[in-house]
Amino acid sequence: MTVLSHPVGLPAGTGAAPISAIRTRVVSAPYRRPFQISSGISTDLISLVVEIHTADGAVGIGETSPMTAYTGETLAGVTAAIEEHLAPALIGRDPLDRAGAHVVMDGVLRGQHVAKSGIDIALYDLAGRLSGWPVHALLGGSIRSRVQTAWVVGLGTLDEMAAEAAEYSARGFSHLKVKGGHDPAKDLELIRAVRAAVPADTEICLDANEGYDATTALPYLAKMTAAGLNLLEQPLPRWDLAGMVRLRERLDVRLMADESMHSLHDALEIVRRGAADVLNIKILKVGGLHRALQIANLAEAAGLAVKIGSMPELGVATLAAVHLAAAVPGATVPADLVGPLLVEEDPLAPSVFADCKGWIDVPTRPGLGHDV
Ligand SMILES: [Mg+2]
Repeated sequence: MTVLSHPVGLPAGTGAAPISAIRTRVVSAPYRRPFQISSGISTDLISLVVEIHTADGAVGIGETSPMTAYTGETLAGVTAAIEEHLAPALIGRDPLDRAGAHVVMDGVLRGQHVAKSGIDIALYDLAGRLSGWPVHALLGGSIRSRVQTAWVVGLGTLDEMAAEAAEYSARGFSHLKVKGGHDPAKDLELIRAVRAAVPADTEICLDANEGYDATTALPYLAKMTAAGLNLLEQPLPRWDLAGMVRLRERLDVRLMADESMHSLHDALEIVRRGAADVLNIKILKVGGLHRALQIANLAEAAGLAVKIGSMPELGVATLAAVHLAAAVPGATVPADLVGPLLVEEDPLAPSVFADCKGWIDVPTRPGLGHDV
């Protein structure tokens, strides 16, 4: 038998100068108001900037942010993963070989998608700068010249949340994500209050962040749907795909998987089980742009729509999501690109997202299009 072998580590070679150094630094920015979801409350958005240098002096800049309660990764852990495990495995490699970089990273460190995403985003920025192309061109092209983003209303009192929904709806955001998940009875009142506070054509998504159980929540969810809920995100614990299937059979609202989908394999299982209508693809959650695009392709093949989501993250990672949303045909649900708008001032890309009214122009400069 002939075994065809194409070993990783012997790339064809593009002639690009090899990766010579990978460095990280912490940046933080205070939130305009503390950001609260069902898993906790944060006062500052903390990110890790990842720089990848080549032997001839080129640099790519990425960003990642752990959001520990959600991902299980910590800032210290992400920093150590990059500096002690991923960087030593990548130094000396062709910086344009992004697929190979993922194989190498997965070979030295299981999981740790937040850490790998920082590297992946920096590699895309570097490849864009080296080629002169914007990142969306590296992802396949740009089928959108601007990307729509939802506004995300964090947890608060019912009056505060309805007022914020009305404020941002009036500002131009026609798709609102409201956070819930503590109590379906209260969330029903919330959906009714938000629906009454915004125009009829404003779409409302409820993100319960795994907070419900199917049996308790089902009657309330049916009433929320009747009250004008358009999209329901991750109502059940991440492992309860059977419960998601049950809700899909009984509810007349689109169901979106977020915490249930951290990888290409998770996405495949959701497709096999019929557990969602929409996948929330967050670059930092799934391990980078390379992985995100694979999942988007799987979703397209399965007929699922995609939301390009985000962790709370600053301008560099958010720009990566803008390029991805521009390149993915199935990204028909408005993205969640509000990290830079949640902080007093974004130290990484202050001009790109300032004064956003629900749409973000897709950058056309080489790389991600930031000035970091
Ligand atoms: Mg979510």
